[in-house]
Amino acid sequence: MEVTLKQAGELIEKANKIVLSSHVNPDGDNVGSTLGLYHALKGTNKDIKILLDDDLPDNLGMMEGLDLYQKPQDGEIIECDLLVILDVDVDRIGRVKDVVKAPILNLDHHISNTKVSDYCYVDAKAAATAQIVYSLIKEMNWQFNLEAATCIYTGLCSDTGFFCYSNTTPYTLKAAAELLEIGVKPDKISEIFYQRSFSSVKAAGRAIDTIELYHDGKIALMIIDKALKESADNTEGFVNFARNIRGVDVAVMIKYADDEVTRVSMRSKSVNVSEIAQSIGGGGHIRAAGATVYKNLMEAKDIVLNAIIKGMNKENA
Ligand code: 5GP
Ligand code: MN
Ligand code: MN
Repeated sequence: MEVTLKQAGELIEKANKIVLSSHVNPDGDNVGSTLGLYHALKGTNKDIKILLDDDLPDNLGMMEGLDLYQKPQDGEIIECDLLVILDVDVDRIGRVKDVVKAPILNLDHHISNTKVSDYCYVDAKAAATAQIVYSLIKEMNWQFNLEAATCIYTGLCSDTGFFCYSNTTPYTLKAAAELLEIGVKPDKISEIFYQRSFSSVKAAGRAIDTIELYHDGKIALMIIDKALKESADNTEGFVNFARNIRGVDVAVMIKYADDEVTRVSMRSKSVNVSEIAQSIGGGGHIRAAGATVYKNLMEAKDIVLNAIIKGMNKENA
C-alpha cells in the first residue's frame, strides 16, 4: 500500500522496536539514508537495530554508526514493530527478509520499485533515498544533528555523483546547503569517498584497458574477470571511465562474481538503462542500473550487449 511521507513518519513514530535495512552491494545512499534516519531518531528511546546482509565498503568513513551494522544470522528470528527498508525493493535485502518478522515500510527512489511492501513511499524523482529521509525529517519536524546531516549529505553525493547527474535538482542543492549550514564537511566526505587503495588504482588501469566499443561507438563495455576482481578490492566507479568516452551513450561493466554468476553495472547518458536492466532480471534508475546474470562472464557479455542494443533500438523506433 502506498503511503504519504507523513504516514511513513507516523508509522515510524508509533513503532518502538525498529529494524533498518537496505540493499546488498551497499553504496553511499544505502548507508547514508539508513544511518541518517537512525541518527534523526536518536533521543526517541526507540530500540533500533541495523541489519545488512553484506559487508560495508571502505569509502564511507565520515559517517558515524558504521559499527552498529549487524549481519542477519541463519535461523535467527527478530520480532519487532517495523522493518524499514531504504533504497531498495524487498528482493535485494538478502536474509533480512527471512529473519525479521514485522510489517515492512519501504522508502525508496528506484523507478523499478514494485511497491509490494506493506507500506511504500517511493519517489522516483528523488535524487537519493537520503533525500527522502531529509524530506521526512522536515515533514515530521524531527531534529537534524550533525551525524544525521553528514550521513544524508553523503547519500546525496553518492547518488548524484557529487551533484553532477541529471537527478540533481534545485531541491537537492537546497537540501545540501541546509546540511552544510548544520556543519557537514564536504571536503572530508569527498576525500574519503574517492580515496582508493594503490592496488585499486592499478586495477582501474587494467580495467580501462579492457574497454571495447560496440554499436557504432555508442556502447562501451568493460570486463572485470576473476583475476582482475581479485586484485581490485574496490571497483566502484570504474564504469564511469567507460561512460566518459565521447560518443558513448551506454557504458556497461560486467564483473565476475562466481563461475556462473556475473554482476552487471550500467550507466547511460540518455537511454533508459533501468528498463534494460529489468529485461535481464535487474533494475535501478533511468541512468544507472544493474543486474545479476546467472551465466559465466562471456555468456553474460552476449546477453547484456543484446539487451542493450534491443533497448537502444526500441527507443529509436
Ligand atoms: P551499481 O551499478 O552501482 O551496482 O547500481 C546502479 C543502480 O542500479 C543502483 O541504484 C542499484 O540499486 C541498482 N541495481 C544494481 N544492481 C541491481 C539489481 O541486481 N537489481 C535491482 N533491482 N537493482 C539493481
Ligand atoms: Mn543504492
Ligand atoms: Mn539510491
